[in-house]
Amino acid sequence: MGHYIPDELPTHIQHFIGGRFVDSVSGKTFDVLDPVSNENYATAAAGQQEDVDLAVTAAKEAFDSGLWPRMKPRDRARILNRIADAVEAQDARLAELETFDTGLPITQALGQAQRAAENFRFFADLIVAQADDTYKVPGAQMNYVNRKPVGVAGLITPWNTPFMLESWKLAPALASGCTVVLKPAEFTPLSASLWAGIFREAGLPDGVFNLVNGIGEEAGDALVKHPDVPLISFTGETTTGQTIYRNCAANLKGMSMELGGKSPAVVFADADLDAAIDSTLFGVFSLNGERCTAGSRILVERSIYDDFCSRYATRAQRIVVGDPHDPKTEVGALVHPEHYAKVMSYVELGKSEGRLLAGGGRPEGLPDGNYVAPTVFADVAPGARIFQEEIFGPVVAITPFDTDEEALSLANGVKYGLAAYLWTNDLHRAHTFAQSVDAGMVWLNSHNVRDLRTPFGGVKASGLGHEGGYRSIDFYTDQQAVHITL
Ligand code: NAD
Repeated sequence: MGHYIPDELPTHIQHFIGGRFVDSVSGKTFDVLDPVSNENYATAAAGQQEDVDLAVTAAKEAFDSGLWPRMKPRDRARILNRIADAVEAQDARLAELETFDTGLPITQALGQAQRAAENFRFFADLIVAQADDTYKVPGAQMNYVNRKPVGVAGLITPWNTPFMLESWKLAPALASGCTVVLKPAEFTPLSASLWAGIFREAGLPDGVFNLVNGIGEEAGDALVKHPDVPLISFTGETTTGQTIYRNCAANLKGMSMELGGKSPAVVFADADLDAAIDSTLFGVFSLNGERCTAGSRILVERSIYDDFCSRYATRAQRIVVGDPHDPKTEVGALVHPEHYAKVMSYVELGKSEGRLLAGGGRPEGLPDGNYVAPTVFADVAPGARIFQEEIFGPVVAITPFDTDEEALSLANGVKYGLAAYLWTNDLHRAHTFAQSVDAGMVWLNSHNVRDLRTPFGGVKASGLGHEGGYRSIDFYTDQQAVHITL
């Protein structure tokens, strides 16, 4: 099958500021490549300080005009629902472009587009049902909460599932009445540019949504340091989060940080092994392994360890790697040659840190493109770098344990704390372990089901603050207390 190129693929991607598509004031651009051919297919406007200034000014004017922040929640919700309708109506096109730009398997990109629509629908419902607190001291005083959108929200997003992750910030920020400036990841700017048309079609007023493309250290940095942007919602690497944290300090900005992970999947001997194998394969090989919540360390009780390893390796070898546009593909091409080189360096390192059971390099028959065979290392010691560091690709480390205490200490023995997956049929053990593991989110005998009302976020180096449900609305709003003496 030849390399699939979507119809009407843009060759140039612009900013969207104050309701208009524009280039950078400086005229600067950067190249965008597709991960199957690694050829440049487009240029994108490379935002600088002055472009961010224009975008923030447009967002601030739209905010100060009061139209969007003071619109009745029901009316805002109507627009958010129209956005969801528009995303659903073009989900196949969105998935096709996302797949082309990111290398994600097309079936999975389609699911992500549908999830993006769901995020808008969910926050539309939430703001209509929003209730704020009132505290009464009968006969003496009354106090109530006046919730106000914070202002211009700066949204900075990564390249894995870019469209869906943008929706995860855009939907609650807009629902709350903020206006926004979005700075998407430079590896994958294509799908972000589609929001402009979707929002316009849905009736979002000009200036409420602004998009500045560009390099993190330029456009992202200018957004973080802009004095008229009171809060930053960031998803990306832990080290980038640390830089942004420092840079937000000068203006004491509100921050939400969704960072990296090295999440454990713990399989006890009493687990439903078939279900655990299905889930732990999905957990690290779906989305090309480029998944913040990937279960990239599998801890297995020793009595089932050999059986688990051999069955797991057999299944990993059967995973279909290939052109991301082919619906049969289960693992596509990694996003960018730089990321491919990073993942491949871990694959090579793993050969000295563990016992290679599957993969270990480029799959046969795919000489070009950023393809990595699903790679499984067993007997990985907890001090190994492939046990400790986020690889963010289709690579998994398997480690045996003997007792619950050892499993917990292995699970918690990394700097991250995003997710954990537990497989056991012992109810007591499941809940005891879940409550002791360092993870913002725990899945018991399950994966990938998440009610949008629940908190999302990590502990330790995986993040700061929680989004999800009302927590997102809390982040994008100030809760002013108004006190009245009766
Ligand atoms: P990254 O940190 O390299 O980049 C993320 C974004 O930050 C990009 O838009 C980038 O341009 C921008 N940026 C970079 N330097 C900046 C700076 N100095 N100032 C302002 N902005 C800057 O991350 P990535 O490689 O795009 O994404 C992968 C990472 O994201 C992984 O670590 C993954 O675990 C993490 N992630 C976390 C979650 C979560 O919810 N916890 C979800 C998805 C991805």
